[in-house]
Amino acid sequence: MNTHSYPLEPQLADRLRVQQAVETYVQTFLQELPSLPAFVDSPSKGAGLLESPFQEQPGDIEEALGLLKTEVDIPGINSASGGHLGYIPGGGLYYSGLGDYLAAVTNKYAGIFFSAPGAVRMENMLLRWMADLIGFPTDVAGNLTSGGSIASLIALATARDAQEIKARLIPDAVVYTTEHAHHCLDKALRIAGLGECPIRYIPMDEQYRMNPEALEQAIVEDNAADLKPWLIIASAGTTDVGAIDPLQAIAQVAKRHQLWYHVDAAYGGFFALAASGKPGLAGIEEADSVVMDPHKGLFIPYGLGAVLIKNKRQAAETHHYQANYMQDALSATEEASPADLSPELSKHFRGLRLWLPLKLHGVSAFRDALEEKLTLANYAYSQLKQHPDFEVPVVPELSVVIFRYLPKKGVEVNAFNQKLIKAVQTDGRVFLSSTLLNGAFMLRMAILSFRTHQDTIDLTLQILQEKASELENSVEV
Ligand SMILES: *Cc1c(COP(=O)(O)O)cnc(C)c1O
Repeated sequence: MNTHSYPLEPQLADRLRVQQAVETYVQTFLQELPSLPAFVDSPSKGAGLLESPFQEQPGDIEEALGLLKTEVDIPGINSASGGHLGYIPGGGLYYSGLGDYLAAVTNKYAGIFFSAPGAVRMENMLLRWMADLIGFPTDVAGNLTSGGSIASLIALATARDAQEIKARLIPDAVVYTTEHAHHCLDKALRIAGLGECPIRYIPMDEQYRMNPEALEQAIVEDNAADLKPWLIIASAGTTDVGAIDPLQAIAQVAKRHQLWYHVDAAYGGFFALAASGKPGLAGIEEADSVVMDPHKGLFIPYGLGAVLIKNKRQAAETHHYQANYMQDALSATEEASPADLSPELSKHFRGLRLWLPLKLHGVSAFRDALEEKLTLANYAYSQLKQHPDFEVPVVPELSVVIFRYLPKKGVEVNAFNQKLIKAVQTDGRVFLSSTLLNGAFMLRMAILSFRTHQDTIDLTLQILQEKASELENSVEV
């Protein structure tokens, strides 16, 4: 055996000692999690990290974990908590963490089939599984990305080239969506050089879904004005209210006018696994490209999105590259290489963080958890609806419930609800976020954590009533 010890290669005893400390930290975190707050507004916001600069000499794992706890894990939103009901909650499945650990230690390079054929097969197998789930053909182009934002960029860059939107056409190349589309799509358009495309925000119905007749009319008018309609962006689960645009009717319009049809299912896509979620997604299979986020609907920790694109050839033409120093990789072509379908070359082997939980839990555990989220959203909706002081304007299609409190006469409603959300966040037992709906300040309950159950919803309803009556009693009329 090698007697020389290299400082970056700890020996077995050291590896086990440090791993034990990390494991103890993790297991303590998980054991304490049910009683930890969902939000901590700490005054220093992790600034203690800065007081511990890196040293030339080795440090101690206990000290490092101490800093991690007080400066990183405590302040802010506890996104591992079932009480996290803000924005769109992410997941954090434990076996996914173990998948990441395995991927990091073996460090398979999953960018190219030649270098890690098994890893690339695994990622492509997951993408084919997702394609099948939403009724796409399984020989589509796909990529596992860091999240929905990069997945959207890949989809829209491909759409741009398929529709031959060259620079001089851009000011006339019209995009159709609604005001409830996610902002990452604006960002993707801008990054893809399409920031100057005119955008038509199509009117929505009273449940905040795109009106397909208005969409068609806008396209007809733009065609008559010699503009170039090219892209429709629909949402399968909006962030604001969880609405699903009428995907089938929009598909018909896209087909009639030969536009690229993109469906943002980052939040809603995996509800296709739940028997009562699937019918609402009908029509998604007609899209040209779809984005869905395993770090939302499959409860995986942050860092996993997916894009599926039917036009394989175009996806590859938009993203492929050649370089002399990569020539060894050219011979292996059995599976598409992720690097040929994404802006990334070197990448995290992120398939393992999804493959392992799917293998160990089985698919039906995911179906049941998603079904539970839909049930909980209906439950929260009907409880709030029964309460005369709450206004609940949207029937939840998925698992977002949007509402506000109607205070007694003379109190400004928006200001009251701003105070209400502040009070809930300061309390910290659960975390809710807010949005504006036609200028009205609304609270949202976004139910997507695998750790959110009926007791969480009951607690949330109790906190809301508690804080609302405290505020009612304290405000002057
Ligand atoms: C979260 C979300 C996105 C953006 O995805 P990231 O994974 O956060 O990059 C896009 N669209 C919708 C509807 C989302 O909920």
